[in-house]
Amino acid sequence: MARSLGIPAVVGLQTIADELETGDYALLDGYNGTVVVNPTDQTFFEYGQLAKIKASLEEKLREIKTQPAVTLDGKIIHLSANIEDQNDVEAVLAHGAEGVGLFRTEFLFINRDSLPDEEDQYKVYRQVAAALKPNPVIIRTLDLGGDKFASHLQLASEMNPFLGWRAIRFCLAQPEMFCAQLRAILRASAEGNVKMMYPMISGLDEWNQANALVEKCKAELREKQIPFDEKMEIGAMIEIPSAALIADALAQRVKFFSIGSNDLIQYTLAADRTNEKVSHLYEPTHPAILRLIKMTVDAAHQHGIWAGVCGEIAGDPALAPLLIGLGVDELSVAPTVVPQVKYIVRRLKLTEAQALAEFAMRCESPSEIYARCQKLARETAPSLFENKT
Ligand code: PEP
Ligand code: MG
Repeated sequence: MARSLGIPAVVGLQTIADELETGDYALLDGYNGTVVVNPTDQTFFEYGQLAKIKASLEEKLREIKTQPAVTLDGKIIHLSANIEDQNDVEAVLAHGAEGVGLFRTEFLFINRDSLPDEEDQYKVYRQVAAALKPNPVIIRTLDLGGDKFASHLQLASEMNPFLGWRAIRFCLAQPEMFCAQLRAILRASAEGNVKMMYPMISGLDEWNQANALVEKCKAELREKQIPFDEKMEIGAMIEIPSAALIADALAQRVKFFSIGSNDLIQYTLAADRTNEKVSHLYEPTHPAILRLIKMTVDAAHQHGIWAGVCGEIAGDPALAPLLIGLGVDELSVAPTVVPQVKYIVRRLKLTEAQALAEFAMRCESPSEIYARCQKLARETAPSLFENKT
């Protein structure tokens, strides 16, 4: 959330509150994950120099705001943004994203006393779609549960919430609530640029059940002569290993894949994404993760559809070239990091990214793969990495 708001942040500083006194100066360095208490004049000077370097980078990033995310050898990457509500539209436009690749709708459901009804939701979805036309807006259906709760739903606490009643599982069990959202999305699709995707698809049954409800909602709207886009595309998020493993079957039915790497990593490596104690196991460049991504992208392309990544790794300038080398067609990232990702894409050769991906697919060590990714990224766009004082 801090990243999407452009707020510098450092987490996990366990003793900082004891070390600071009222009136102390604190210099927060979000790039390196440090806080300097009462910095010396020399430190202030060094950070002043860093601020100048950053200002000159910002200038370069502004210059490419309206340019496409295309590699030096012509591979076009669709670079879109992840948003949480209608207020984020401004940031999408300000940072030059090509629409929205992930609209996390659960934020409309939390921090309030009751469920938003169809009309409330329709207004928000339509407003976002209208503001970003003709660029696509991919609305993700409700992904409550796991680490996102709505107090008014009073869900029973579970032993393993991430493995429990969340996302599409919860929605399929609450068809009335789910259909209100589906009708709201369908109505907003009359704008012409709306797509929809389901989170946490684990197999074909969930896909079929969700689509049956969409058909029911479409019939209701037709009956009432309420307009919607008959051809609205529906995709599946690939964030459970089982979905990646049956990507060939899913690819014959869906219009696109969006890889939710935040969850795909936690489920594949059995490492809770919110648990600091196992964060060392949460490795995006683990060979198992790369194989699942490759499998998903290959299945998509074999069946003539596109595959994107909307998890945090898509917005890491060191990892974006690897994803591109693996064949990913779309990257959806926090609005504030769109310019940096675009900058590196525009300085990259697809052939270099492919060579990196080939190396990664042969390598057995996650840290070696990450080091190679960093090397290519630093050579490609050194100014993005001038963060150290
Ligand atoms: C993901 O899992 O990568 C994702 C984009 O969804 P969320 O972070 O909202 O679970
Ligand atoms: Mg997810």
